[in-house]
Amino acid sequence: MRKKIVAANWKMHLSLNEGKELVHDILKGLQGLDEHKLTVIATPFVHLNQTAGQLQGHSHIYLGAQNCHTEAMGAYTGEISAPMLKSVGVTYVIVGHSERREYFKEDNTMLAKKTDIALHNGLQVIFCCGEHLEIRDANTQNAFVEKQIVESLFHLNAEQLQNVVIAYEPIWAIGTGRTASSQQAQDMHVHIRNVISSKYGQVAANNMSILYGGSCKPSNAEELFACPDVDGGLIGGAALKADDFLFIIDAMTKA
Ligand code: PEP
Repeated sequence: MRKKIVAANWKMHLSLNEGKELVHDILKGLQGLDEHKLTVIATPFVHLNQTAGQLQGHSHIYLGAQNCHTEAMGAYTGEISAPMLKSVGVTYVIVGHSERREYFKEDNTMLAKKTDIALHNGLQVIFCCGEHLEIRDANTQNAFVEKQIVESLFHLNAEQLQNVVIAYEPIWAIGTGRTASSQQAQDMHVHIRNVISSKYGQVAANNMSILYGGSCKPSNAEELFACPDVDGGLIGGAALKADDFLFIIDAMTKA
């Protein structure tokens, strides 16, 4: 049975105190999670230690990071490595978010390396993929997303792949208020599952959690999560308000 996951991506938001309050409020209202229905909170690096402490003793809610370096250590001023993340209690790391691809020029080859170092250090990877608006308008989104997955994940063996979650995030829907329709999300998730199946077989594809991201919020979460191949969401803006995030978690646990 594949896992359902609602993951928060705080991006570069919240002071240390604001983060503490948000996690406190989320923990106060959290319900309905179990080993198949999880939540992840991916904070900025400076929050990780504090959030790790707050999550201690709480089940099925995991600490996430938003990025890691390709190398385990070295002279890379300002960077954070996968072993460092592991050492502060991180379980999941987001790899290949479209903002990293766009603003920090992360390409499929680099993301393959980041995936490797994360898995090698016992982290689970939330691998983001998704197309620009021009690609969607040209109706070539399937080939585009397939290339991202093939070039960054297809070198993994089947066992490694079990520690990867895919987040489909159409770039035109991230932070824009414009959401993919549930049909567009479902169609792409089926395509992604078929891509995985073509290399790793149907069982691996069926076990792969595929999250939707892009302006997912309380008003559309239920409809999106009702799609049979949408296994939860990666949530940006709506994860910064405890009530909204709890509503979205609720939608996932009841789907
Ligand atoms: C994201 O950053 O992964 C995201 C989906 O953002 P938003 O929910 O704000 O569109």
